[in-house]
Amino acid sequence: MKRMHAALCAALALAVGRDAPHDQTLRDYRAVSLAGFTVLVSPDTQADPATWERLEWRLEDTLREARAALPPHARRELAGVRIWVEGSRATADAFHTAYYIRRAAPAGVASRGDILITQPQAFIQGFGQGNVLLHELAHAFDDRQYGMQNPAVQAAFEQARRAGLYQNGEWTPYAVTNAREYFAELSSAYFLRMSAPPLDRARLKRLDPAGYAAIEAAWSGEADR
Ligand SMILES: [Zn+2]
Repeated sequence: MKRMHAALCAALALAVGRDAPHDQTLRDYRAVSLAGFTVLVSPDTQADPATWERLEWRLEDTLREARAALPPHARRELAGVRIWVEGSRATADAFHTAYYIRRAAPAGVASRGDILITQPQAFIQGFGQGNVLLHELAHAFDDRQYGMQNPAVQAAFEQARRAGLYQNGEWTPYAVTNAREYFAELSSAYFLRMSAPPLDRARLKRLDPAGYAAIEAAWSGEADR
């Protein structure tokens, strides 16, 4: 269970694409449209059609589910987020399935504000155990709307941490990593479900009412900016 939580994501700050060949360009990637999002498939993923075949429908299903859960204004806001599929050699560590890129990528072709799937096999294996891409899209929304510094979310996060919420081993521990992950994890519970408490919107409201209110306000566009 713990591993699954950790596999959800981090908002990646730097070093994206550090192992990608420097001469790789956008033209080497195949663009496909899945559930209204542009997905760019790396050359090494294209060279492994068996994996792509297993990944593509799961990716489309995950994106469709995330998109359907979001309010219309958020869908519009996130329409330009590109999803990059890199092969396993691509980036970072072997532990995270996907990243939101919150700072400029020093190499490679993915950009700030995009989402990177770095472990296609892990994505395939984790399919059905929580919507990894809703978590990443929540980071993208938080960044675009609030620069990842929504005061109401930060206050609720501090309050939850002081109260010891999410820290008893049964709750999702990833939520208290920092305010950014708090927002992304609670957004997953708010819109869909999670694999650990607070699980869903009703339980979130009961277990962490301040967090619930902050998430609701953030996605309604009514939070302080
Ligand atoms: Zn995250």
